[in-house]
Amino acid sequence: MFLVLCCVIILSENVNAATENQACSEGETICAAPNVEKKLYAIKQRIAQAMANYESCSTDVADVNCTCHAAVIKKDLAPYKSTGLSRKMLENAAKYGTRYKIYKQQLYRDENCMFPARCQGIEHFLLQLLPQLPDMDLVINTRDYPQLQSAFRGQDAAVFSFSKTQEHHDIMYPAWTFWAGGPATKLHPTGIGRWDLMREKLRNSADAIAWNDKQALGFFRGSRTSDERDSLVLLSRRRPELVNAQYTKNQAWKSLKDTLNQAPAQEASFEDHCQYKYLFNFRGVAASFRLKHLFLCKSLVFHVGDEWQEFFYPQLKPWVHYVPLQSYPSEQQYEELIEFFKNHDELAQQIATNGYDFIWQHLRMEDISCYWRKLLKRYKKLLKYEVQPDKQMKFVGGAKDEL
Ligand code: UDP
Repeated sequence: MFLVLCCVIILSENVNAATENQACSEGETICAAPNVEKKLYAIKQRIAQAMANYESCSTDVADVNCTCHAAVIKKDLAPYKSTGLSRKMLENAAKYGTRYKIYKQQLYRDENCMFPARCQGIEHFLLQLLPQLPDMDLVINTRDYPQLQSAFRGQDAAVFSFSKTQEHHDIMYPAWTFWAGGPATKLHPTGIGRWDLMREKLRNSADAIAWNDKQALGFFRGSRTSDERDSLVLLSRRRPELVNAQYTKNQAWKSLKDTLNQAPAQEASFEDHCQYKYLFNFRGVAASFRLKHLFLCKSLVFHVGDEWQEFFYPQLKPWVHYVPLQSYPSEQQYEELIEFFKNHDELAQQIATNGYDFIWQHLRMEDISCYWRKLLKRYKKLLKYEVQPDKQMKFVGGAKDEL
């Protein structure tokens, strides 16, 4: 029986090989066809599987208790579960960020904050939550880059950072930019903050243009914070009918090299992105803030690389909410995927709608506040010492000053 089965398998493999060889001898386009078809089939399979396996993160549609993102808190705090957090660990952490203290429902901070607008964006949420928060010390890193690389440091410090990779054990917090602070662009000179307002604006822009009226074109505008973006920009120069991707100028721009040897393009507003069907996200220095905005256009989001995370990324699922691409995609990989979705428009629209729905439903301002509250309450449980007042620290605000 086993022998028969083996023969059938070998036979069918030979038949396939023969068909492929035959096709190959007929000319190159036909020769390539079986592979292309296999690739297309594989993409369809991945989408079907991902959608079939997807389970909504909350049974409560309103997710009032922000359960959707809760697993991230557990994971980020896990390194400290057995040891807890000592006063010494917090002292060790001080050099990596700004020290904050919550004491008797009042918020204190180091006198100086490296990026005042970023601190303001963070403090907005902390002040709001003071009536619900116990005493604690915490160190918040306001730089883009995480601070605690697991390979070089033991768990002798705890630092909150907005973004990290698997290689870091920083504790992720919702970035300042949900309320205030950079990145600043020409269109948003004081920063792209106020996610609550942006959500409404983008929803209106998305509603103003039906899927079928969007241009079936890939679109990207941004600076060259990582050369991972180069191949898309190069593809755009070679095939402008498929992709419109250009580098813009940021504050660090020095020469044409920073825009890949072409003049910088004009910046495009987030709202303008909604005119295009296919939008692209890449890491920058760390995770880029653009990802959440792109989803609200109800366009199809291509997300390159899965290394750099923000707290809400783990609940976004590849092929369900977005199209994943490995880091440093080739021009050909972009071409194949864009062509695929041009030919499978209904799948593109389905994924775009899923992505929009997730961000609209589970990345509301109340989800950000809820995440901060849960995170800080659980973090506090790890502190092994009694929090003391510190006269050197600056008073930021109290529970009665709640916004
Ligand atoms: N941005 C934009 N329009 C542009 C260029 C940039 O809206 O024409 C936004 C972009 O989406 C991101 C922010 O400005 O949220 C900073 O983008 P950049 O590419 O400069 O840096 P990143 O943080 O992505 O590395």
